[in-house]
Amino acid sequence: MNSASGNDSSALPPPVLTTTSARIVPRDQHPISRNQISDSALKVLYRLINAGHQAFLVGGGIRDLLVGLEPKDFDIATDALPEEVRALFRNARLIGRRFRLAHVRFGREIIEVATFRGMAADDAPAIEREDLPSRRRSTGDNEPAAALSGSGMILRDNVYGTVEDDAARRDFTINALYYTPADFCLYDFAGGLEDIEQRRIRLIGDPLQRYREDPVRILRALRFAAKLGFELDAAAAAAIPDSAELLLDVPPARLFDEVVKLLLHGQGEATFDLLCRFGILELLFPSTAAEIIRDPTQETFIRTALANTDRRISEDLPVTPGFLYAALLWPTVVAEQTTLEAAGESPRDALVQAGGDAIARQQAHTSVPRRFSTWMRETWELQPRLESPTPRQVERLMSHPRFRAAYDFLVVRERAGHDTGGMGDWWTRFQAADEDARQAMLGALRPGTGRSSGRKRRRRRKPAAS
Ligand code: ATP
Ligand code: MG
Repeated sequence: MNSASGNDSSALPPPVLTTTSARIVPRDQHPISRNQISDSALKVLYRLINAGHQAFLVGGGIRDLLVGLEPKDFDIATDALPEEVRALFRNARLIGRRFRLAHVRFGREIIEVATFRGMAADDAPAIEREDLPSRRRSTGDNEPAAALSGSGMILRDNVYGTVEDDAARRDFTINALYYTPADFCLYDFAGGLEDIEQRRIRLIGDPLQRYREDPVRILRALRFAAKLGFELDAAAAAAIPDSAELLLDVPPARLFDEVVKLLLHGQGEATFDLLCRFGILELLFPSTAAEIIRDPTQETFIRTALANTDRRISEDLPVTPGFLYAALLWPTVVAEQTTLEAAGESPRDALVQAGGDAIARQQAHTSVPRRFSTWMRETWELQPRLESPTPRQVERLMSHPRFRAAYDFLVVRERAGHDTGGMGDWWTRFQAADEDARQAMLGALRPGTGRSSGRKRRRRRKPAAS
């Protein structure tokens, strides 16, 4: 299948595109080589090309290779229709309604194959299916191929076009670089190579319109800026204040996915800075943003949690959206717990209710799927139990399925300067201790409070800073 020789630069074939709208960079003038691309992505590219289609690697895969990062995944753009892709691959599945594409699965790796998008979004409401040549129609359902909301947001985008059209529909110049093993050329349709050199995030087209079409592009701009260490160019930054509120119209389920991508790519703390700087935090997490203003120690806590997550990612340790959300909502949980306790609730009931309320409030902004909300509540509810265990409870707590997460959470709170009675450190030492040392540590737990008698319980500086 792979008919080209192993050395990309020997006997270079001519460019497959003769477009004048792209800067065409031949193989010997760019650093992308096939051995940096996953075998699965290459298989998909070659099968499409051998079936007579155009097929390019595009987006994050190319961008990340050019800046020296390891790509998270490889996305492919092709002139084959989704149904044609499905017919070519036994392991392909068509997904998405708003944006139909094919997922080709190889074990745990999924290669996303998208058909070239066409047509300016502005024209979307005027599109009549019957008026379109069949190649430019979406197939399979009775919905129009493209649709915009009243505010200009793209609700559906399934009209197909050429590679030039496709490039114009992409979000940032650095994401509109195309590479194909049919000629090993890099096609730069929007000046992305120069922007990579200048380390800047620039939208393709008018930023206000591009944000209006899809406000999630604001979050993507901040994510790529933090992840790559790039700056937003002046126009991309200037259009945010007037567009940010459109994020409120994005379905909460999509925002949940985006927030997870925003904060779990390895530069979560830097992204958090940008969310604060551009006033986005208060749109996505209004209660958290309000708490941070009221009690700045809570910002320290969230930053510590994000720095901890960034470190785990850099060490290839597992991370979960549950931990991230548990940290982001914790300031509001503590604030409400304090209020409920002051009104006479028991500390435990106050915590349970405050946790439930924090999640319920957040659902309206970025939904929290149940598999994570249960996890978060368990992690929160274990905090006082880890802070004040009796000797008899210690073993049972350690076998709790959420012990590890709750312990990590406690340590982050402690590192952020919140009053945990030093119990994060106690659990760290306890887990590392041998049997004799453990018995001694259990004996030293103060009866009644359970906290280690080796440390004095500090008085709370402020009720909210827990
Ligand atoms: P990563 O995979 O590292 O998160 P990526 O740029 O590959 O980054 P994807 O979500 O995988 O992001 O999207 C692949 C490509 O599809 C992008 O590079 C971009 O060209 C295009 N794209 C994705 N989302 C949008 C969007 N909301 N608007 C316009 N183009 C988009
Ligand atoms: Mg990608």
